[in-house]
Amino acid sequence: MIALLASLDPGEQATFASAIGTATYVLAAVLFVLALKWLSSPATARRGNLAGEIGMAAAIIGALISYHILTYEWIIIGFAIGAILGVPMAVWMPMTAVPQRTALSHAFGALAAALVGTAHYYLELPEHSLTSVKMFFLCLEVLLGALTFTGSLMAFGKLQDLLPTRPLTYKNQNVYNFALLGSAVLCAVGLIFHPQWYALFPILLLLALVFGVLLIIPIGGADMPTVISLLNSYAGLSASMMGFVLSNKLLIIAGALDGASGLILSIIMCKAMNRSFANVLFGAFGQIQASAAAAEKKSVHATNAEEVAQILETAQKVVIIPGYGMAVAQAQHKVRELYDQLTRRGVEVKFAIHPVAGRMPGHMNVLLAEAEIPYDRLVEMDDINGDFQQTDVALVVGANDVVNPAARHDKSSPIYGMPIINADKAKTVVAIKRSMNPGFAGIDNELYTLDRTLMLFGDAKQVIGAVAKELADAR
Ligand code: NAP
Repeated sequence: MIALLASLDPGEQATFASAIGTATYVLAAVLFVLALKWLSSPATARRGNLAGEIGMAAAIIGALISYHILTYEWIIIGFAIGAILGVPMAVWMPMTAVPQRTALSHAFGALAAALVGTAHYYLELPEHSLTSVKMFFLCLEVLLGALTFTGSLMAFGKLQDLLPTRPLTYKNQNVYNFALLGSAVLCAVGLIFHPQWYALFPILLLLALVFGVLLIIPIGGADMPTVISLLNSYAGLSASMMGFVLSNKLLIIAGALDGASGLILSIIMCKAMNRSFANVLFGAFGQIQASAAAAEKKSVHATNAEEVAQILETAQKVVIIPGYGMAVAQAQHKVRELYDQLTRRGVEVKFAIHPVAGRMPGHMNVLLAEAEIPYDRLVEMDDINGDFQQTDVALVVGANDVVNPAARHDKSSPIYGMPIINADKAKTVVAIKRSMNPGFAGIDNELYTLDRTLMLFGDAKQVIGAVAKELADAR
C-alpha cells in the first residue's frame, strides 16, 4: 500500500487518500448502526461492543488518511493523555460507578466539540469565510458542547458525592435559567447574522458554561442517570453540528446516532419511572423524599438463612427480583450459586427484570450476564408480572422501589404510577436488604410489612452466600 502510494503523484495521492477515507467512513457508519442494533439484546451485546470498537478504529484511520496530516506528534500526545486517563477509569471504576464514568466521558466529548467550534471560529474569522449557515451549526455546536461540559461535570460531582446530591433550588429558578438560555440564544442569533461581531462569541461561550451548571444543580442526584442520558444526547448533537462545520459526514452520522439513542434512552427511563421530562429536569425530585420517609414504622417478620433455604427447597417456582442492592453488594455470583443449587433440585427459577432496577439501564442484565446466568432465565417485567400468583417464592435481592406496591395506589407517593414488579402477589416474599432504610425514592415500602413477607437482613452477598451454603450442606 505504502509503495503504491509513493509511486503516485501528489494529486493522485490526494484522490486516492480521499477515496480510502470515504470507504472507511462508510464502513464505520455501517458498523455504528450494527453496534446499536446488537447492543439492544444481551445475547448479541458483546458483538455490538466489538462492532462499535472496530467502527471507531475505522473512523480514526479514515480521518487520519483523508485529512492529509503531515505531523502526528500532537495526535500521539493527545492519544497518550486520553489513554493514561481513560484506561484506569475503565479498569478500576466499579460497575456501580458507571453512571459517573459516563458523565465524565460526556463532559470530555462535549468539551472537545466546544473547543473545535471555538478554534474554527477564531481561525476563520480573519478570512471572512464564515457564512450564516456555517455560523448556525457552529453556534449550536458551541452552545450544546459548553453546556454539556459543565452540566456533565456537575452530574459527575453529584453522583460521586463531591457535590450535594439534593436538589439545590431557589425562587424563580426556572425563570432565571430560561432567561440565561434566552440570552445565549440571542448572542447566537447575532453571530449567525453578523459573524464579525466577535465580542458576542465569548459571551455565548460563558453563558452556555454557566447554564450547564444551573441546569443541573436543581436536579437531585437520584435523577442523574436520566439526566446523563439526556446530556449524552446533547453531546451527540454537538458532535453532529461539528460534522456540519467541518464537512465531515461520519461525524454528522455518528453524532446523530448518539443524539437520538441518548434521547430514546431518556424517554424509556422516564416512562419506566412514570415521570415526564419536565418533571425530571425541573421537578426537583428528591425533595418530597424526606417527609415521605418519615412515615410510621410497622413491624416486620425477620428471618434467617436457614429458614429461607428450607422455604426455597420446598418451592416449585421461584422468581428472583434483583435491584440496586445486588449491584452494591456485588452479589451476582452468589446469586448464581443459589440459582445452581435450586435448579439442581428441579426448582424453576426465573429472574424478573425491571427496566429501571439499579442505577442505569440494563444494570441487572449486565450483572447477571457477568455471573453467566442463562439469558433465557431473565424475563422482562411485563412478561413475568402475570406469573406471580403461581409463584411460590419471590426473592427480592436489594430491590426496593421497583417492588413497592404504593406505586399502584398511593397518589401522594413520588413513585405513583411507576410500573412495578408484582412481587407482592407471590405466595411468599423474601426480601433481602441490610436495614429498613428506603431506596432511591426515599419512601417506605409496604411490601416489607405484608404478612407473607419475610425480611432477611444483611449484605446481599453474604446472606445469599449463606442460603446457598445451607442448600449445599443439606444435599
Ligand atoms: P432502590 O429502590 O434504590 O433500593 C435499593 C435497596 O438496596 C435499598 O433499599 C437498600 O436497602 C438495598 N441495599 C443497598 N445495599 C445493599 C447491600 N449491600 N445488600 C443488600 N441490600 C442492599 O433500588 P431498585 O429497587 O433497584 O430501584 C431503582 C431505583 O432507581 C428506582 O426508583 C428507579 O426509578 C431509580 N433509577 C433507576 C435508573 C436506572 O436506569 N436503572 C435511573 C434513574 C433512577 P438497605 O440500605 O437497607 O440495605
